[in-house]
Amino acid sequence: MIDEKLEAIYAEIVRLNPGEVEFHQATRDVLESLGLVVAKHPEFARHRMIPRICEPERQIIFRVTWQDDHGGVHINRGYRVEFNSALGPYKGGLRFHPSVNLSIVKFLGFEQIFKNALTGLPIGGAKGGSNFDPKGRSDDEIMRFCQSFMTELYRHVGEYTDVPAGDIGVGRREIGYMFGQYKRITNRYESGVLTGKGVDWGGALVREEATGYGTVFFLAEMLKTRGETLDGKDCLVSGSGNVALNAIEKLTQMGARVVACSDSDGVVHDPDGIDVALLRQVKEVERLRVSEYAQRRPGTGYIRGGQIWSIPCDVALPCATQNELSGKDAATLVANGCIAVAEGANMPTTGEGVRVFLDAGIAFGPGKAANAGGVATSALEMQQNASRDSWTFDYTESRLARIMADIHETCRQTAEEFGAPGNYVVGANIAGFRRVARAMIDLGLI
Ligand code: NDP
Repeated sequence: MIDEKLEAIYAEIVRLNPGEVEFHQATRDVLESLGLVVAKHPEFARHRMIPRICEPERQIIFRVTWQDDHGGVHINRGYRVEFNSALGPYKGGLRFHPSVNLSIVKFLGFEQIFKNALTGLPIGGAKGGSNFDPKGRSDDEIMRFCQSFMTELYRHVGEYTDVPAGDIGVGRREIGYMFGQYKRITNRYESGVLTGKGVDWGGALVREEATGYGTVFFLAEMLKTRGETLDGKDCLVSGSGNVALNAIEKLTQMGARVVACSDSDGVVHDPDGIDVALLRQVKEVERLRVSEYAQRRPGTGYIRGGQIWSIPCDVALPCATQNELSGKDAATLVANGCIAVAEGANMPTTGEGVRVFLDAGIAFGPGKAANAGGVATSALEMQQNASRDSWTFDYTESRLARIMADIHETCRQTAEEFGAPGNYVVGANIAGFRRVARAMIDLGLI
């Protein structure tokens, strides 16, 4: 429920951004937590902090034309929404997926502001991408698309301005093609302009693993407050991309058993526990579907078009995309005895689903806190680029684990301060909002 004092602000957001349902959902989620904050901090209302934070500083939309391997001409739309730079240069990923539109980019950019604030690091919030569909495209086609995309984007980014990274459909390969094009256009080897780079050309060890690993570290912290560990727990992880794969690896290392994962075609059910090396081979090396994993692994079931959340588990990690876990799915998970949920993806649980988890009193880690390890490690990559240094895997992973423990503690303490102990949604929203709002007041009317 939104506090009645904030209803008018939310109505104005909906009026100003017609049809942008994902953006409405993301702003509503934050506003629902802010009633108590404005009561405690009258200066925020005086400075009109909520409507200011909900309005992006800059929105860039551009045409991306490129040629396929047969000479056919394609036209896509590119986006970069530079939402807030009160804490540092804009920072947030690029998503290449046919579903990308302005609403999705704005919801992601909005979430990113608070996520980045929670890391405690000096980074603002942004997001971008394109409705380009990389599925089935050759390497050369991906390269031509990335080059065309960067030919426009380069004028808006830079190590002190805006530093994009990966997201759905954008990994090390795509970052490489974009970095190459940026370097070629500007004649500058400006490592700090993009993160998620290959380790041979300015990337940080652990960046690729960071979102998935960080989500598991956050989950372990939540369980610790309840006297539990991951050891022996059965887990569901939706998706099988960057975040899912690395979450599966870390869960397995920490003694849990991941019994299912998925892609947009179907679900793999592997009661003995996913074989991480085989999944990496299928998904990362051969770039095939999860059905191929099921074919190569005896004793595994594959449910085409199936639903992952109906498989019984102790712990669930939605790591694919927004709104993939409904109220009904949440009720099924709770009925099956699930005790904790950590969101590796951004806004994967619908508003109704979140309410089911909170009402059931299970440990629920919202994406803007639980998956912040990716962007935090991106900020560590920026630090290494700025000092022309490179840290070891173990050292960087220990920094990531510390950051996730700190984010967990910030959310836990803030929730308690505002009378909602154990509610990480309230804790994350308020802690993130407060840090950004205070910085914006300090910087004046800009
Ligand atoms: P990838 O592209 O590597 O993987 C995405 C996975 O999700 C694939 O298995 C994909 O299946 C599945 N998926 C994507 N869209 C849909 C859909 N509409 N329906 C069903 N399944 C879908 O992306 P990432 O792993 O990087 O990102 C996953 C989530 O994590 C996103 O929400 C992203 O915003 C979030 N995130 C990512 C970070 C990062 O560092 N990469 C940082 C923080 C959050 P298929 O191949 O069939 O499309």
